[in-house]
Amino acid sequence: MFYVKFLISFYAAVILLVSHYIWAQSSNVYSIKTVVIDPGHGGKDPGTHGLNFKEKDISLAIALKLEELFKTYLPDIKVFLTRRTDEFVELEERAQIANRNKADLFVSIHCNAAGKPVMVKNPKTGKFVPKKVKNSRGKYVVVETINPEPFGSETYVMGLKNEQGKMNVAMRENAPILLEDNYKQKYQGFDPESEESYIIMSNYTSAYVIQSAKLAMKIQQEYKNKAGRIDKGVHRQSIWVLWRTSMPSVLTEVGYLTNPNEEKFLGSEIGQKYIAACILNAIRKYKYEIAGKEINFDDEIEKLPPLENENIQLGILPKNSNSDDTLVNNNITNSTNNTNISKDSTQKKTNNEIIFRVQFKISDKPIDIKEEEPLEKIWYYMSGSLIKYTTGSFTRLEDAVLYLRKLKENGYKDAFIVAFKGDERISIEEAKKLLSEIEEKKK
Ligand SMILES: [Zn+2]
Repeated sequence: MFYVKFLISFYAAVILLVSHYIWAQSSNVYSIKTVVIDPGHGGKDPGTHGLNFKEKDISLAIALKLEELFKTYLPDIKVFLTRRTDEFVELEERAQIANRNKADLFVSIHCNAAGKPVMVKNPKTGKFVPKKVKNSRGKYVVVETINPEPFGSETYVMGLKNEQGKMNVAMRENAPILLEDNYKQKYQGFDPESEESYIIMSNYTSAYVIQSAKLAMKIQQEYKNKAGRIDKGVHRQSIWVLWRTSMPSVLTEVGYLTNPNEEKFLGSEIGQKYIAACILNAIRKYKYEIAGKEINFDDEIEKLPPLENENIQLGILPKNSNSDDTLVNNNITNSTNNTNISKDSTQKKTNNEIIFRVQFKISDKPIDIKEEEPLEKIWYYMSGSLIKYTTGSFTRLEDAVLYLRKLKENGYKDAFIVAFKGDERISIEEAKKLLSEIEEKKK
């Protein structure tokens, strides 16, 4: 009997020990002890800029404020910054700082920029086409001018969903590589400006993507609820620092420096304080959530009075510009001067119509449209550095299908149908869904 009792208590002790061990292990896995904050750009790489501020200065100011908040509100967490001054830190090194310090989270802070192509008159055709110049690496690129309209915040996690022409954030945030010495060797031939080159990241496994997205969503929520930011969502793009870090990682675009009102906010002490507070609050909520603890914070951070958006206060509404497939001066055949371009873009704000077109050509240089003149209603849209040409404009998919058939018979074998909602390129499926919803409403 004693023996049985002994055995029971022995096993109970073992179970207790084992479960305690498992608990300790899992709380290890799910606790955040070290965070690396990465202020984007620096030194010879200013990043983007507005009228008065550079991205490198704003990202550093926010990072330093965030570090201070950690000391007060999350003193148990060790915080490293990838830079503390205006210095150039290589992209790979930023990721390695996080890896070497065994960080549990990596947060890269950046500012967004919006551009639109400069249009020039083709002397032969008299039509306006995007101006292109050869850059220092011998590649033809569209000359862009600032687009002051877009504003709002968005946060990125690593992803391979590199849709053609929707990689502008990845391309811009990976571009500092080109300023590094010997980058061709160091980055195994990776060229941040070439869409094809992104194949190098295809060995990415999504081990941390769910956690990263969880944190990204919390950051966006805080921006929206506290800092009055327009929530432009969480997105996936192939961003070098996110690819190379082996822990949940996000890159947050706190706002647009190309929007003068948002720039003013991001350049202000109060704006930077709010953005830092939002990131901190998101991190601590994330920390407690993954530890399975529910804590209601009741402090200055949680009680920050919500701000109103400065653009909306001025009556400026956000454009539905979640895509980089923004149409610029979209009707080539009708545009005769630059004033037409701006007229077009103001009209587009309210135009959410679903339109089907047939895409027939992609080119990295403007083509002479005259050659294509038998086609009707030629439109084009920019996709990164590519110009995508479409023809026809239909409100019914069936009509676009008939037109496509005709085009194919006439030698346009690779043509296919593309759908738009106002300015925004959407999938055919989505267009069909939206159209059927509109039909439903009519009934
Ligand atoms: Zn940046």
